[in-house]
Amino acid sequence: VTNWQGKHVTVAGLGVSGVPAAKVLHGLGALVTVVNDGDDDRARAQAAELEALGVKVRLGDGATLPEGTELIVTAPGWKPDKPLFAAAHEAGIEIWGDVELAWRLRGPDAAPWLAVTGTNGKTTTVQMLASILKAAGLRTAAVGNIGVSLLDAVLGDEQYDVLAVELSSYQLHWAPSLRAHSAAVLNLAPDHLDWHGSMEAYAADKGRIYEGNRVACVYNAADKATEDLVREADVEEGCRAVGFTLGTPAPSQLGVVDGILVDRAFVEDRQKNAQELAEVSDVNPPAPHNIANALAAAALARAYGVPPQAVRDGLRAFTPDAHRIAHVADVDGVAYVDDSKATNTHATEASLAAYESIVWIAGGLAKGATFDELVAKSAKRLRGAVLIGADRALIRDALARHAPEVPVVDLDRTDTGAMLAAVQEARRLAVAGDTVLLAPACASMDMFANYNKRGEAFAEAVRELGAGA
Ligand code: ADP
Repeated sequence: VTNWQGKHVTVAGLGVSGVPAAKVLHGLGALVTVVNDGDDDRARAQAAELEALGVKVRLGDGATLPEGTELIVTAPGWKPDKPLFAAAHEAGIEIWGDVELAWRLRGPDAAPWLAVTGTNGKTTTVQMLASILKAAGLRTAAVGNIGVSLLDAVLGDEQYDVLAVELSSYQLHWAPSLRAHSAAVLNLAPDHLDWHGSMEAYAADKGRIYEGNRVACVYNAADKATEDLVREADVEEGCRAVGFTLGTPAPSQLGVVDGILVDRAFVEDRQKNAQELAEVSDVNPPAPHNIANALAAAALARAYGVPPQAVRDGLRAFTPDAHRIAHVADVDGVAYVDDSKATNTHATEASLAAYESIVWIAGGLAKGATFDELVAKSAKRLRGAVLIGADRALIRDALARHAPEVPVVDLDRTDTGAMLAAVQEARRLAVAGDTVLLAPACASMDMFANYNKRGEAFAEAVRELGAGA
């Protein structure tokens, strides 16, 4: 689309993507109608703001397609099986997400995209990537599902050389024409299956990130599903498949040799068959899954031509966001670690794998997950477990089946004081040298507003423990 003047565009959903999308389209001269399912106070405030500009807003009716709609721009979270979309398909109307809109408006011209998706580790990897690119002196930002929105990044005044882009499976679903410079799928585990409908559909949406890549498709050599997606993708001629592994890398891979991150895919010196990038201890925290994130970030940066030194400097300069394996305090020789962001079993498995002797605090909303595999794989590391939250019985039963010798405290509480009680129970179970790890494997909304609040409650409880010690 080059002429938006008078074009009837329906924006589906207010919120963090819908409001900016409506403003941008209105500014381009489109006739914008926003439809929104809810009409709570927040929606009304956003609607008032848009209406003041001359945008039409329909609250409480996200199902009916407005008369004359020529294009729908949807919030990424809207499920593909919504009635609005059925009506659009029938009428042959295109549906774009916020990422597709940014791409179509100015994506390819603003800056090349180095894109990252995966079930877990996206935010961390994109932040590491941005840190590495900055260390190379490039003008860049972490954008997309994180920090700056893509619309702001491509349309704003700030000039970028290259963008580090986090994309969710929802955003990819609604971004059919996106073409990244290079992209990575970090890992694939069941998540959001209620939205996508099946594991196959979820994987296919993630795999979209490789379509049309120009330089490299980065995959996880320990996760065959990611490699399969590369094989199925239609890429530009000369685009390479580049793997990352925690072991010794094959040619065309990045990996780890004797505590050093090495690159065998992009080697500047033709006399050498590997390029040293950084030390494992440069990665913060140096847990296995996080080293994998660092390798993926390094692969994308190297695909863009960043020198080895910048990879090391960028990794050293990186500090993880809160609530991601954050060391809170040591009390009586026991370390207390907050991984509240571990909201699914795959993330929790990685988190538990980073410690030897753990008192595990878990529970919350399971989102349809099962816990047998997680518990069976982690049983030998568990000193004990303390369970909280609505779906804790699912974890308790898995522990009974696969780790019957592990002592379990079932707190049977979902009130806000439960976290303090959980930390006190964990302290009773722990001995010096152990780690008390909050890695809930569940969403937080049964007890807390979000995972941040849950992590803060944990840290608060640990501080109280420390003060009383
Ligand atoms: P995302 O943006 O994909 O949600 P984050 O970087 O915010 O990912 O990390 C989310 C959670 O996943 C954290 O709790 C962390 O422990 C875990 N995690 C991070 N990287 C990985 C990985 N590569 N594999 C498995 N789990 C991971």
